[in-house]
Amino acid sequence: MIPQMNLLIVGPQASGKGTQAKKIADLYKIPHISTGDIFRDNIKNGTALGKQVVEYTNHGKLVPDALVIQLIRDRLSQADCAPGFILDGFPRTQPQAEALDQITRIGKVVVVDVPDEVCIMRISGRYMASNGTTYNVYTSPKPKNAAYHPDGTLIEAFDDVTGEKLVQRDDDKPEKVRQRLADYHAQTKPIIAHYGKTAGTVVLIDGQQDIDAVFGEIRQALG
Ligand code: AMP
Repeated sequence: MIPQMNLLIVGPQASGKGTQAKKIADLYKIPHISTGDIFRDNIKNGTALGKQVVEYTNHGKLVPDALVIQLIRDRLSQADCAPGFILDGFPRTQPQAEALDQITRIGKVVVVDVPDEVCIMRISGRYMASNGTTYNVYTSPKPKNAAYHPDGTLIEAFDDVTGEKLVQRDDDKPEKVRQRLADYHAQTKPIIAHYGKTAGTVVLIDGQQDIDAVFGEIRQALG
């Protein structure tokens, strides 16, 4: 029998896939397994795994396949995955997809589709204060005190509470975002095609709608 709730979620950065993955996990009572979150937790806690991967994640490079595959193999063998799971950020390469085929069968692949230009706007609008407060000058929450060029691009913005000048993370700048999106297209398109060989497996969702509308479409597609 093919397990029904063995799910993958795929989408570019700022597609909202992490948010949707959490909602799917809550609804179907299955674990949300994000390789990016697992790596960030391990780095924060200074574990052996964290030390192994930090050099890769810091430079936006992929962690070696063998390491990620072993991590996922161990995670999927845990008891909470018996009713299913939603994998977010894995597989990222063809060898990872082939290894996953050997571990289990995937029921559905949810692809959250958002055009590159929208992702660039969502990410490159993100500005932060030194205490971690995050604003988005193009979406929300917008800083109350900000100056814009006539074409709508930002000149400068300030924290609502402290008045401190907000800064942009280096990898949120448009040229860096474009590079990350190019990597996504180069690495992930073949993976979608890999699952697309089985009819009805891949479901394409329009990620430009609001969060609840995207979730509504996903629910309908998953049944
Ligand atoms: P993410 O939050 O999914 O963008 O992941 C953050 C970082 O973790 C990536 O830039 C990679 O360095 C690493 N990473 C996450 N998932 C994978 C994967 N499936 N294969 C290789 N590296 C990964």
